[in-house]
Amino acid sequence: MLTERQPSLPYALVHEDTLTYIIPRSGDCVLGGTNDDFDDLLPSDETTRDIRRRCASVVPEGVPALGVRVGLRPFRDGGVRIEADRTFDGRRIIHNYGHGGSGFTVSWGLCGGGGTAYPPRV
Ligand SMILES: Cc1cc2nc3c(=O)[nH]c(=O)nc-3n(C[C@H](O)[C@H](O)[C@H](O)COP(=O)(O)OP(=O)(O)OC[C@H]3O[C@@H](n4cnc5c(N)ncnc54)[C@H](O)[C@@H]3O)c2cc1C
Repeated sequence: MLTERQPSLPYALVHEDTLTYIIPRSGDCVLGGTNDDFDDLLPSDETTRDIRRRCASVVPEGVPALGVRVGLRPFRDGGVRIEADRTFDGRRIIHNYGHGGSGFTVSWGLCGGGGTAYPPRV
């Protein structure tokens, strides 16, 4: 959920047990989150209310909401796919997905930073 910015909050807050976070940005504030096993992109009113309730001690529920979005953390049953490939018209592509909730962190290493996971040339 996006709300109006809270000038009183100078840094992000994260509660690991409930996966609740409050992230102030330059013009607004991001409230979250959930750890549910589903892939529905439609926001649930019940979940939205729960997030607001969990964040209410820092961002009061009266602060106007600017929008609600669902973000997915896609996992793969077989693990991360990292593989060199070609498109049907011959352009080179590298598949690098399925990192779940760690994609921003680990994708850099899997792209060659660590070297070992980088796929062979095709
Ligand atoms: C709530 C949440 C919390 C997360 N927390 C963390 C975390 O703490 N640490 C961490 O490492 N990772 C975290 N992740 C995961 C991380 O955000 C993703 O793994 C990462 O962003 C994936 O990067 P990407 O470039 O593959 O895809 P994305 O970041 O999703 O980028 C894909 C881009 O393609 C654009 N796009 C899609 N379709 C089209 C189209 N047809 N034409 C043109 N453009 C298109 C989209 O608009 C988007 O800008 C979190 C994810 C979520 C949802």
